[in-house]
Amino acid sequence: MWLAEEPLLFEMSSPGRKAFSLPDLDVPESPLPEGMTREEVNLPEISELELVRHYVRLSQKNYSVDTHFYPLGSCTMKYNPKVNEVTAGMEGFTRTHPLQPEWMAQGNLALMYRLQEALKEISGFAGVTLQPAAGAHGEFTGVLIMRAYHVDRGDTQRKKVLIPNSAHGTNPASVAMSGFEAVEIPSDARGNVDLDALKAACDETVVGLMITNPNTLGLFEEHIKEVVDTVHACGGLVYGDGANLNALLGVARPGDLGFDVMHFNLHKTFSTPHGGGGPGSGPVGVAEHLLPYLPFPQVVKEGDTYKLVTPEKSIGRMKAFHGNFGMMVRALTYILLHGEEDLRQVAINAVLNANYLKARIEKVYPVKYPRTCMHEFVASGNIADGIHTMDIAKRLIDYGFHPPTVYFPLIVPEAIMIEPTETESKETLDAFADALLKIAEEARTNPDLLHTAPHTTPVRRLDEVGAARKPVLCYRG
Ligand SMILES: *Cc1c(COP(=O)(O)O)cnc(C)c1O
Repeated sequence: MWLAEEPLLFEMSSPGRKAFSLPDLDVPESPLPEGMTREEVNLPEISELELVRHYVRLSQKNYSVDTHFYPLGSCTMKYNPKVNEVTAGMEGFTRTHPLQPEWMAQGNLALMYRLQEALKEISGFAGVTLQPAAGAHGEFTGVLIMRAYHVDRGDTQRKKVLIPNSAHGTNPASVAMSGFEAVEIPSDARGNVDLDALKAACDETVVGLMITNPNTLGLFEEHIKEVVDTVHACGGLVYGDGANLNALLGVARPGDLGFDVMHFNLHKTFSTPHGGGGPGSGPVGVAEHLLPYLPFPQVVKEGDTYKLVTPEKSIGRMKAFHGNFGMMVRALTYILLHGEEDLRQVAINAVLNANYLKARIEKVYPVKYPRTCMHEFVASGNIADGIHTMDIAKRLIDYGFHPPTVYFPLIVPEAIMIEPTETESKETLDAFADALLKIAEEARTNPDLLHTAPHTTPVRRLDEVGAARKPVLCYRG
């Protein structure tokens, strides 16, 4: 039964029904502020059972990684182990307040310290801040650190940040937020940064380069050392977009590759939940020369005591209190449960799964840069006359799969960006490949089936722009 046919909360209202009972009043009664009485706010009156059913039914209409394969390229919808929730729910973590003095919160600070240390080890950086709330926020933090570094050296003429055209849209946004200008660098025929264009753009006005490696095409930059050296030679810094480290875990360290600063998305690589606007965490790692600019607070260990300190030339605070602490607990749980060997296995399996899926569909869905991919790859929905990637994506829903990322990266027309992650089985990958191949057949034999998809959802093909620009978020009786 679909949402549209179900009674809505307001329509189930019946006078006198209640889903709560408050304890007896043990303080003097005082009136509610104006506008807040039951009559004035017009809340539905329903029983607890009806309330539970309403919200549980709504929750079951969600696609989630716990119910379906969710192969969003770049977004890493890997399984979030339930043990993460067990640790994050422990009383010692949930019942501390961020304003408690340091001596009372030593266990929590120890956890933050261990996570900082683990991320340093994984990435090869000299220091890590856990402040940022998400990847884009980490980028903003990282670019502010780059700015502070240049300003500190009197290098104030540097205003340009170079960004390859395969980059995530948040990169130029973070640059603009930091008061700099984003300059696009083209890719070459193999999907790498175009070295000649990079060399031509590098001069004394360059703040640095923001590079994603593997890039959003799922390709490892083949000239990474030359790219890094070119940027350093003109005095610029190299920012690594490490939102998704799945292909590198335990295999290569961005710090060793010469990167100066990089953010991690704990909610991608380290299995903390994301989507739906929930809290994320985007720690930033920096090389030695950027340590003084890290945000406040940093957790340090002196003897057996953990302390919060402000680095010497700190860019200041980036987020209230200590960052999204619950995400830190989940990420450290994931890291410690895996350990060094299993984290490497995560990377190996993520790359294997992506290449397996690519091999199964690339004869039908062309891959513009036909190289061995890393954790993801970008195919094209250009498979039959009049068929677009959107048709394929919508038809996948009928087969019970969440569509991959579509129309990104922008440099591949009709892009379908697929990241299976390491947590999926061969059976799931095969079922997904079979569905894609079946849809390609339908595209030839019955294209309208694709044009009008999805057919099995409460609402059919949506006006997505309208839904984003003019959302209807309130009940309209
Ligand atoms: C997801 C992602 C980001 C942004 O991360 P958010 O947590 O969504 O802000 C940035 N860069 C890349 C490559 C990403 O995949």
